[in-house]
Amino acid sequence: MSKIYSFADDPGALELDDVIEVLDDPEPDKHIESKSATWRVLIIDDDPKVHRGTVFALYDLTVFGRKFSFVHAYSATEAREVLTADKDFAVILLDVVMETDSAGLDLVQFIRFDMGMAASRIILRTGQPGYAPEMRVIQAYDIDDYRSKAELTQVRLFTTMVSALRSYHRIQTIELSRHGLQRIIDAAADLGRRRQLCSFSEGVLSQISGLLGLSCEGIVLARRHDICFRIGEFNNLSVYGTPDKMEDSASPYIFASTGRFAGLAGSLLTQVGDLSIIRGIEEVLEAKQSRFNSHYFVLYIAAPSGDDIAVHVSIDAPLSDVVCELLQVFTGNIAVGFDNASMFEHIESLAFLDSLTGLPNRYSFHQAVMLGLIMPTELTACAANLQLRPAVFIISVVHYESVITVLGNEVGDRLQKLIAHRLKQYFSDGYFLARLSDDTFGLLSMKIDDIEGRATLDGIRSNFASSFTIFGSDIAVSARIGYAISDPGDQDADRLIRQAGMALAQIKNNGRGYERRFIAAMENEVRDRLRLVGYLGEALHSKEFIVYYQPLLQLSGWNRAQAPGGGSPRLTGFEALLRWRRADGTLIPPDVFIPAAEESGRIVDIGEWVLTEACLKQRDWSKGGLLSIRMAVNVSVRQMREPGFLAMVERVIAKTGIDPKFLDLELTETMDMEDSTFVDTMHALRKFGIAIAIDDFGTGYSSLSRLHQLPVDHIKIDRSFVTTLGSRSESRSLVAMIIKAGHERGLDVIAEGVETIEQEQELIRLGCDEAQGYLYGHPDSETLIEKKFFSS
Ligand code: C2E
Ligand code: CA
Ligand code: CA
Repeated sequence: MSKIYSFADDPGALELDDVIEVLDDPEPDKHIESKSATWRVLIIDDDPKVHRGTVFALYDLTVFGRKFSFVHAYSATEAREVLTADKDFAVILLDVVMETDSAGLDLVQFIRFDMGMAASRIILRTGQPGYAPEMRVIQAYDIDDYRSKAELTQVRLFTTMVSALRSYHRIQTIELSRHGLQRIIDAAADLGRRRQLCSFSEGVLSQISGLLGLSCEGIVLARRHDICFRIGEFNNLSVYGTPDKMEDSASPYIFASTGRFAGLAGSLLTQVGDLSIIRGIEEVLEAKQSRFNSHYFVLYIAAPSGDDIAVHVSIDAPLSDVVCELLQVFTGNIAVGFDNASMFEHIESLAFLDSLTGLPNRYSFHQAVMLGLIMPTELTACAANLQLRPAVFIISVVHYESVITVLGNEVGDRLQKLIAHRLKQYFSDGYFLARLSDDTFGLLSMKIDDIEGRATLDGIRSNFASSFTIFGSDIAVSARIGYAISDPGDQDADRLIRQAGMALAQIKNNGRGYERRFIAAMENEVRDRLRLVGYLGEALHSKEFIVYYQPLLQLSGWNRAQAPGGGSPRLTGFEALLRWRRADGTLIPPDVFIPAAEESGRIVDIGEWVLTEACLKQRDWSKGGLLSIRMAVNVSVRQMREPGFLAMVERVIAKTGIDPKFLDLELTETMDMEDSTFVDTMHALRKFGIAIAIDDFGTGYSSLSRLHQLPVDHIKIDRSFVTTLGSRSESRSLVAMIIKAGHERGLDVIAEGVETIEQEQELIRLGCDEAQGYLYGHPDSETLIEKKFFSS
C-alpha cells in the first residue's frame, strides 16, 4: 500500500479506509491499454498551488497497476497549445474559471469537438461555487465529475480519478474492439488476396502489427501434412518442392519472419536461435492452444485441412484482454486464409511438381535449365575464366519396371521416393534435381568442368551404391547416366536436355555401360536414322528387307560337362529377326527402324512379309514335317490392333502350309495386355494352335501375378537380366523368381542374350528351359544358317 498524503489545502479530509477500499478494486485489470506505462493526467489550472497539491496527492499512488504522470497548463490558451501537440491523456483536471468565466467550458468544447478526444475523461474543478455548469452541458460534453476545489480531499480526488480511469478504460476498450474488428475485416480481404503461403504469412504478421499498433517481431510457422509447396521464386518462376530435410523432421516450417527473426523464412523451427522460443512454440502446437505471456504470445491455429499453424510474436508489455480476444478472432481469418493459399499453391504446384516425390517435374526442369543457361552469361566474366558451364545429367533407374513387375507398384513408388530423397540430400547447392518420368531423374549442375563432371557422375553413382530398404527388404538398383555439357554461349535448354537423353539412349541401345557423355557424332547418327525412316516406304518394294535367324536351344536336361566334344544343347527352333539392307550394303538393325515403322503403320505390311518368309523357312527346314523346328516371329502391338490381323495370320498359314503348332508369336508385354480385345486376339491365335511368348519379360508392365490370366505359352527373360546374372545379385533373384513363377503356371521359360558359359550354367541351375544368345549363335542370314545347321 502506498503512502497517503493529505491534500495540502485540506489536511483534515483524509479518510484512509476509503482509499484502501478503492485501491483494493475487486477486479483490478492488469492489462489496461495505454501507449504509456503511466496514467497521463493533464492539469489545467491558473493556480499553481492546485497543480502542486494534485501532484502531491497522486504522484505516489498506483491505480490498476500504473502510476500517474502529469502535464501542466496554467491557462486555457496554454492548454490549447499542449492539446494540439499531444492528445494522449487519460484524465484532464480542468479549472472552470481561468482567463474568463467560461474559459474552462470553452476548453471542454475544444477538447471534445475540435480535438475529437472522446476517450479522455474530464473532471471540472472550480474555486467558486455557483459556477457549476448545467446538467445539459455536463451531458453534452461528457464531463465525468464536477467538484469544488474545497471538496477535493486527497481521498475524494483519488476516488474520482479511479472511477474516471475505469470509464476511460472502458471507452478505450470499446474503441479498440471497434477498430480491431474493422481491421480484422480489412485483414480478411487482404489475406484473401494472397495466394501464396509465404506472402500470406507475411500478411499475417503485418496485420497483427496493425492490430497491436506496433511493428511486430514474429514468425509464422506450420506443421504441414502435405509437404509439397512453393519454396521460392526465381525470375517470376515459382519453384516448387519439398523444403530440405522436411521429410526427416516433424519440425514446423517457417513461412514468414520479421524483426529480429528476419531471414528465417524457409527454414525449420529448429533453426530459430532461441531455445526457449522453440520450446514455447512446440508446446503450443502440442497443446493446440494459444498462449499469452508478458513478452511474447503464440497463437495456435488449426486449419480446416488439418495443418497446424503457429504465430509467435514478441511484445514489450502484456496485452489487454480485448486485444487477446481480438487476436483469437483474427485466428479464424488465418485458418481459412492459410487453407486458401495452400490450395492455390497446391493447384499451381501440380503443374510444376512431381506428385510422388515432391521434386520439380519435367516442366520445372526445363525452366531451370533455361535459366541455368541464361544466368552464366550474366556472370560471364568469372564463369569464362573458370570454364564453368551448365550440364544436364539424366539418370535412369535400371530395371525399375522389373521392380514393379515383381514387387508391385507400392514398392516401386517407395523406391522412387527413396532415390529422390537420397539424391536430393546429396545434390543441394548448385544443383537442380527433378523427376522427369517414371524411372528417370534430371540433374542440372551449374558448375561443371571436366573434373566436376567426373565428381558429379561419381556422386550419382555413390547414391546407388547401397541398397534401398523397403518394407524391411533390401533392394539394389543401379543407374544409367547420360549427360551433356553445354557449349559456351549455348542457350537452348531443349537441346541440352535432348543431348543428355541421346547419350542415355546410346547406353540403352548398346545394352552395356552405365554412363555416357553426349558427343556431336550422336546427333548426326540420330539425324541419319531419321532420314532413313523416310526411305522405309520403298524398302519393302525394293526388297531391301531380309530375315535373319537365330537359334533357340534346349537347356533342360542338358549337361555341358557330359556333352561329347563340348557340343551345344539341342536345337529347338529359330527366332526370325528382321534386317534392312540398304542398296549401298549397310545393314540397319531393327531397333532403328521398327519404332518408325510402327508409328507410320508400315509395320503391318512389313510384318506380314516377315511372317510369310519365316513360315516358308520353317517348312523348308523341317523338311515338310520330318524335323521338329519351331519358328518364332516377333509381332508388334500395332499389328495386333489391326482389324485384319487374325485373317492375315490365317492366310499366311494357309499360303505357306506351316503347321501352326510350330509357330511362336512373340509379343512384347505392354499395357495393351490389360485390354480384353487384345486378350481375345491372343486366345484366337492359340485356337489356331499357335504358341504365344511374352518377349522381354521383366521390363514391361504385366506383373508376375497377372501372368496366369493371360493366354501364354512361353516367357522370354529379357537380355538385361541375363547379362547381369553374374554381377548383380538382384538379377539372379529376379531370374529365379521369373522361372519359378513361370513354371508354376506351366510355362516354358526362355533366356535371351546368353553370351557366356557362366550365364548358361547359372540358368541351368535355376531351371531355365531354353536359351538363345551369341554363345550358341548370332542371328544370321538363311544361307549361313543352312550351312551351319542343315548342310548334311
Ligand atoms: P528381340 O525380340 O528381343 O530380339 C532379340 C534381340 O537380341 C535381337 O536383336 C538379337 O540379335 C539380340 N541378341 C540375341 N542374342 C544376343 C546376345 O547374346 N547378346 C546380345 N547383345 N544380343 C543378342 P535385333 O535382331 O537387333 O532385334 C532387336 C529387336 O527388334 C527385337 O528384340 C525385336 O523386338 C525387334 N524385331 C526384330 N525383328 C522384328 C520383326 O520382324 N517384327 C517386329 N515387330 N519386331 C522385330
Ligand atoms: Ca523376340
Ligand atoms: Ca527379347
